[in-house]
Amino acid sequence: CVYLEIRVMDKPCFKPVLLGITLLAIACMTVIALYGIVFDAGSTHTSLFLYQWPGNKENNTGIVSQKLTCDVKGDGISSYVTNPPDAGQSLKECIDVAMTAIPPSQLSTTPVYLGATAGMRLLMLENQTQAERILAEVTKAIQSYPFDFRGARILTGMEEGAYGWITINYLLEGFIKSGKIQGALDLGGASAQISFTPKDPVKDPGSAFDLQLYGYRYQLYTYSYLCYGKDQALKMLQRLESKGDKDGRSAARPSSVVQHPCYHRNYSLTLKLGELYNSPCVVKPLPFDPALKVTFLGTGDSQLCLSLMKSIINLTDCSFYPDCGFNGVYQPPVNGEFFAFSAYFYTFNFLGLAPRTPLPRVLATIESYCNKTWDTVSHQYPKVKETYLRDYCGSAHYIMTILLKGFKFNDSWDQIYFYKQVRDNDIGWTLGYMLNLTNLISSDRPLVITGVQH
Ligand code: AMP
Repeated sequence: CVYLEIRVMDKPCFKPVLLGITLLAIACMTVIALYGIVFDAGSTHTSLFLYQWPGNKENNTGIVSQKLTCDVKGDGISSYVTNPPDAGQSLKECIDVAMTAIPPSQLSTTPVYLGATAGMRLLMLENQTQAERILAEVTKAIQSYPFDFRGARILTGMEEGAYGWITINYLLEGFIKSGKIQGALDLGGASAQISFTPKDPVKDPGSAFDLQLYGYRYQLYTYSYLCYGKDQALKMLQRLESKGDKDGRSAARPSSVVQHPCYHRNYSLTLKLGELYNSPCVVKPLPFDPALKVTFLGTGDSQLCLSLMKSIINLTDCSFYPDCGFNGVYQPPVNGEFFAFSAYFYTFNFLGLAPRTPLPRVLATIESYCNKTWDTVSHQYPKVKETYLRDYCGSAHYIMTILLKGFKFNDSWDQIYFYKQVRDNDIGWTLGYMLNLTNLISSDRPLVITGVQH
């Protein structure tokens, strides 16, 4: 553009041409925004994230930002087992919203990804054919739009953990500016991820990977605990209560009315056994009648709730390595600051404990919330969804159990920050995933995150 302008300026008689060329030069220098879309197909719901970045800039941290998000109506895609085409249909409303935010001329070059997480990992274990049908249907739905669709797939637990870690450190500009790297704690509905750079080299190759970003090398420890997301963990607790055997192993006949210390006093929940045992995370009793019902009566006993949480994770079996998380999983000692997001944030935010609260006050707040009656909390928070309100007590105790006893944050509680966003960008795996696959983080090629499917 500049070259053309100089040539025309030699000839003053070409004033209109000069004007046109100058306008062209300005247009050439105008920043063209580029776009990318990622669907986060989580266990309880799906969200669309539209990202935007200037097309004329070098790769650098902090240039990609979230332009909009859209929550897909209905449950997660793994719930569409009986009608997979509806999983595809459910995405369309959000795709239409994203279409209006992107210039029509750029739709065909906008990459779109769909990543499914632990809900679909569980379905894949239960019924691979159904899981693949659902992925085929969401693929068909997205392909009916004029985007550059780059695939719908199930992320491994390791990818989910690592991309969450990349997102946080990209947004905080830790890769370039401060050089201070944060760990990531992600609590989904069906799995929980922990990712950080330990002081010493990672001893188990199954939970380690090396990456180079902006010229620096990092060795990341990351592990995903399948079934230890908030909803599946609370389901494991319901099973434990309904079976009445605290070690959870015998196949005793479920009782039909049982007390539940994590539910508020006067709260009552009746479930069919088919609903309680609808996941591979809870072992079915034998014999098993899915139509039988069980009723949980809340007793609002905070201390008992906390002590029961320790029964759904195994804190003793750490035979292979001296350093352990829970369930015998290798984990080096936690190191540095951590950002805790997703259900960690939702729970702590509701209880007024985000972004950071001293440990004694956290414990006192949880205790006082759990000990309230159901009538009190339901009147105090009439607008909060009933299942969330019911579960904040149990999920708060679950969070404290895995953070303090599981991941061993007892001496470094003050290093954990509970956040949902950094500069209006949501924290989660989606941004890291897109940055990597569109080559927006400076490494020669996209990272290949391998490792075991947890
Ligand atoms: P996922 O769908 O796997 O991302 O799970 C996110 C988790 O956060 C699920 O357990 C949801 O039930 C939970 N969740 C989402 N929003 C809220 C909220 N406002 N309060 C409490 N829990 C929430």
